[in-house]
Amino acid sequence: MGNIPLLDISTFNDEQLSVWVVAHFEKAFRAKQISEWLWKKNVSSFDEMSNLPSGFIQTLKEHFYIPKIKIAEKQVSSDGSIKYAMQLHDKHWIEMVLIPSKKRSTVCVSSQVGCGLNCRFCATAHVGFSRNLTAYEMYEQVFRANQESMVHFGHPISNIVWMGMGEPLLNYENVMQAIDYITTAKGMGMSKDRITLSSCGIVKGIRQLADDKSKVHLAISLHSAHLEQRSDIMPINKSNPLPALSNALVYYYQKTNQRITIEYLLLNGENDSLEHARLLAIFCKRFPVKINIIEYNPHPYAVFSATNKQQQALFIDYLKNKNLVVNLRLSKGKDIAAACGQLAKKRQA
Ligand code: SF4
Repeated sequence: MGNIPLLDISTFNDEQLSVWVVAHFEKAFRAKQISEWLWKKNVSSFDEMSNLPSGFIQTLKEHFYIPKIKIAEKQVSSDGSIKYAMQLHDKHWIEMVLIPSKKRSTVCVSSQVGCGLNCRFCATAHVGFSRNLTAYEMYEQVFRANQESMVHFGHPISNIVWMGMGEPLLNYENVMQAIDYITTAKGMGMSKDRITLSSCGIVKGIRQLADDKSKVHLAISLHSAHLEQRSDIMPINKSNPLPALSNALVYYYQKTNQRITIEYLLLNGENDSLEHARLLAIFCKRFPVKINIIEYNPHPYAVFSATNKQQQALFIDYLKNKNLVVNLRLSKGKDIAAACGQLAKKRQA
């Protein structure tokens, strides 16, 4: 086939694949077989597609490639979390974290190569944005995490959180397609109830999620309920300000009836005063929430430090006294830079 560039087969949906298959003189049902090998069985090569005629496998190889992800490095934390450095077919790098707890394990998935939103506390922001991940690349993280969980912990993954590198609601279509494959018989058949999308507050994406009545959970990385300060530490707040975010969350709750998780990173001397707690309590009044208070994890680019235990306790008590549901989330994987806001691997190919 000379110099015709190969195409990423995972970007063809069933219908497109079926049209292509027929155009190449095969029966339409071959498209379903290819799709099964690709997603459900997650094979690495066309040669493994053993129910396809060998001549047709050759034709596929002449037109397509399978965008497999290579696990290049694993780092195991003293708390059992495992961070994976993964190389994509175009030599970009992403990171994924597998977090065990009792009989469960959670995978933290990336949605983009790097991120362009520049949250000041986040290591990923320093990597910069390269591109969105495809649905297949996100599905692959989950599929591989499931295999890794079986090997290391003896049980499959129980939960999936989109909290790795990138902003999932800025890669909406691909994330939704990945979730479709993760949660249906076309792929892994997991429950949507096990999935959480964490967003820094993309208003349009939240409204879209509400309209789509997706059954996944929504977590908002809030980190400040003070308008100017939030814009300072999270520049996305300038184009998606707190009042618009609040309205979008009201809309989301009205449409889905789902409680929203509010993530709040305590930054020493920045957002951890009782006045900040008061503003947070006010922000959380308009819809049912669960607040996760997160300890800050320093990283090589850090400009903040963690709030001390005493101030942390005062902050949490204030919120509890306002009858809010509050959990202190102790970050896992700190020693391998796998905790919240620490994912920043940037490598040369
Ligand atoms: S916190 Fe999330 S949205 Fe903000 S820069 Fe980091 S990865 Fe991007």
